[in-house]
Amino acid sequence: MTLVNDANFHDLQYITADNIHSSDVIAIFSTRNGGVSGQTPETKHLYSMNLAHNFSPGEDDYENIIENYKIIMSSQGFDMKSLVTLQQKHTSNIIVADDNIVKKYRSNPLGFCQISEAADALVTNIKGLLLSVRTADCVPVLLYDSKNQTIAAIHAGWRGTLTGIIQKTIKCMTKEYNTNPKDIKVAIGPAIGLCCFEVGFEVQESFVKEYGEDINKYFTTQPESKPFCDIKSMSKAFLIETGVLEENIEVSDLCTKCNPDLFFSYRFSGGKCGLMSSFIGLK
Ligand SMILES: [Zn+2]
Repeated sequence: MTLVNDANFHDLQYITADNIHSSDVIAIFSTRNGGVSGQTPETKHLYSMNLAHNFSPGEDDYENIIENYKIIMSSQGFDMKSLVTLQQKHTSNIIVADDNIVKKYRSNPLGFCQISEAADALVTNIKGLLLSVRTADCVPVLLYDSKNQTIAAIHAGWRGTLTGIIQKTIKCMTKEYNTNPKDIKVAIGPAIGLCCFEVGFEVQESFVKEYGEDINKYFTTQPESKPFCDIKSMSKAFLIETGVLEENIEVSDLCTKCNPDLFFSYRFSGGKCGLMSSFIGLK
């Protein structure tokens, strides 16, 4: 993955998923830099590429957030009408963004597709759509089946991961578009690392209940400490179990909490932060 500095667009910084990003498909992860939000002391925590368009009412100006989307999308040659967003709720629900869905939800004044159903993954094969998922510590996963020209974007927090959103998204690609998992390239973006992702014992127990004792290898065991979870490695393991080839998976080693100048982090900020977005689209 490459951190790109684009001085032509407000000193925009974003990270390209180099195993997917090409002349045919764009696959990028935003950082917190390059936008117009957070210019006052009261809104500093939203500085500056806040992409939380329907998540923090009152926290940021809608106009700022839309401008931020325009900046980062235009850097990739896409406009607002390309955008597809979800009402994310830590579910394992998946939306197939086909013609019907796009038609149904493309009713807002700016003409983008704002899906109001609770879901945390998007799949499509329509060219010119830019699928997006928002995160600030959770794991963003971008998928590209080059053979069938099908893409997907997943917001995988621990709840979605527990209920199998990664595996279900791949199965959905197979069902809807005949995808063979062996043809999928995957990029797991910046997210909270093992260094920082402390979880409750009950979280670890629910994973063991769902996936068996073997899952314990993704949790630390230290005396008098709660477990820490390596959710990026766990996500990678679920991809491989579902048939994705290991050599087709790229994982960002950046921890969102350890890099507060580059990323919004829910944990670092105590919940007071903007959101980043990951984008994937067929040109
Ligand atoms: Zn960390």
